[in-house]
Amino acid sequence: MTDIIQLLPDHVANQIAAGEVVQRPASVVKELLENAIDARATNIKLIVKNAGKTLIQVIDNGNGMSVTDARLSFERHATSKIRNAEDLFNLRTKGFRGEALASIAAISHVELKTKQKQDDIGVQIKIEGSEVVSQEVIVTPKGTSVAVKNLFFNIPARRNFLKSNPVETRHIIDEFHRIALAHPNINFSMYHNGSDMFNLLVSNHRQRIVNIFGGKTNEKLVPVEENTEVLKISGFVGKPEFAKKTRGEQFFFVNNRFIKSAYLNHAINSAFEGILREGTHASYFLYLDVNPKTIDINIHPTKTEIKFDDEHTLYALLRSAVKHSLGQFNIAPVLDFNRDGNMDTPYGFKNKEAINPNVEVDSDFNPFRDEKVSGGLSTSQKKESVANWEGLYVGLESKSNVSSKDFTEVQFESDELTSKMFDEESTEKAQKTFQLHNKYIVNTIKSGMLVINQHRAHQRVLYEVFLQYITVKESVSQQLLFPLNLEFSNSEIVILQSLKVQLEQTGFVFSKLEDSKAELTGVPVSVSEANVSLVLEQLINDVENEVPDSNFSPTDLLAKSLAKSLAIKTGQRLSIEEQEHLVNRLFACKEPNISPTNKQTFVTMTVDDLDKKFM
Ligand code: ADP
Ligand code: MG
Repeated sequence: MTDIIQLLPDHVANQIAAGEVVQRPASVVKELLENAIDARATNIKLIVKNAGKTLIQVIDNGNGMSVTDARLSFERHATSKIRNAEDLFNLRTKGFRGEALASIAAISHVELKTKQKQDDIGVQIKIEGSEVVSQEVIVTPKGTSVAVKNLFFNIPARRNFLKSNPVETRHIIDEFHRIALAHPNINFSMYHNGSDMFNLLVSNHRQRIVNIFGGKTNEKLVPVEENTEVLKISGFVGKPEFAKKTRGEQFFFVNNRFIKSAYLNHAINSAFEGILREGTHASYFLYLDVNPKTIDINIHPTKTEIKFDDEHTLYALLRSAVKHSLGQFNIAPVLDFNRDGNMDTPYGFKNKEAINPNVEVDSDFNPFRDEKVSGGLSTSQKKESVANWEGLYVGLESKSNVSSKDFTEVQFESDELTSKMFDEESTEKAQKTFQLHNKYIVNTIKSGMLVINQHRAHQRVLYEVFLQYITVKESVSQQLLFPLNLEFSNSEIVILQSLKVQLEQTGFVFSKLEDSKAELTGVPVSVSEANVSLVLEQLINDVENEVPDSNFSPTDLLAKSLAKSLAIKTGQRLSIEEQEHLVNRLFACKEPNISPTNKQTFVTMTVDDLDKKFM
């Protein structure tokens, strides 16, 4: 008997959580990979073209299907994995709904090739929008290959609704990661547009995590182990000092299935309480083994949510296991009350040598020159003053060697306006600005005063400069004496690759960007060598955060991210000259009143407002 697929009787089919299985290319990837695992494959290959919009193919060396099963597999509620309603509560397979292949075949062109071990020849079936267009015998190795082409070809609205290629690719990689992390005992490889992205050989959990997230991950992992009657926990949590600003690396697996659970996530967070820096998230890779009878997977069509019989016990066990591990590895906090967060050295700088800020001040510089002679100022003078400004500011260590050329394209539309806005009378060399709490710049204007948020204001200035660089495609890069080698995970490299063109326009020069490595021979003048890694990591974080956003513009995102990384921070003391430069530059911007993330950069308070307060 080699035919194993059956149509589920109606009363069972009706109990299956209804809903759409295929939302985007990544959903197809998930379903096909799961089918290969259920077929006991030891080798699984994923091939993707054009972010899955053109092709998603999964080739496995699993059990294969008989000719009858191959045909039946595309029927709705056709499955070899459950027979009756009770089976729904004792699931040991990834699939059970018998709906994936039917749903996929309804909205794409599918080519299935499959052969069982004992057969000499296999079968190939082609289906277009649920219609079988051909069925042939073919010579094919043991196992199954499912190729899904032209997803949503018959639902243009859905196709148009797909996100940009980097975003859809990101989703695919996420699904691939989740499945590969759950099954280190299987070889997985992934190819995108002809180049290989992952080649994960059989290994253990730790090695699999490292293979996916890069060599530097290894030192960050703290093992977690707990064995009780109801639950077995194994896996790792990330050391708190490596916690990231994004929630990226958080994985729960229950019986080797990736699941999302806000409740269990809370358990981990509470175990980390007091040890994480504000705004960072613990990373974790936790594998829970429970009796399948104590969970319900049939609550969501994509099978990523689970109902546990006894969630509270699970919560408590998880929390204490993680706490215990953190304690064992001596990373629970030394209690330190009333600590001033501002005094903390960022973890990234911990073991680095202090760099003396190299601020160059042009003693001849007259901050009011622009305003006084505006109109009469020659363009070359104008360029020079701008260049000086940048020299003082950006990253605080560029050598004022910004060639004036880079700024020729920058237009100061609001120059005219600016000079009128500021109080003409006070343009004698009197102190016109004042820094408040190393955070705000207070500036007197004709009608009263401005209170400027220094960090946001500088972000706005840099954002417009970088946008200009990227769109005008003219920037200066400083050649590095020695190439700078940085290590990233493969998926991080993919993100950088997707932004390579724009990065190069801002002045980054990559001599290599593949195989977990980035080699740079040049960086923008405004970025110091020591900062490159931080800037790129921030950028990757920002792209990852951007995923759910529909209007992903790489150019805009890059400019925003660089501006955010390089802008002077709250808490940084500024000299009077620096304050004045910043104010002048802010009001030379096209949109001075908001930061690149749409937050207010300054507030005004008029003399009238003040008068009212004294009434
Ligand atoms: P489910 O996985 O929920 O059973 P699917 O629609 O994904 O439903 O698949 C239907 C059936 O087709 C499966 O139950 C299985 O018997 C068979 N099948 C699908 N993919 C494969 C594969 N890669 N190898 C062997 N059999 C497969
Ligand atoms: Mg399936």
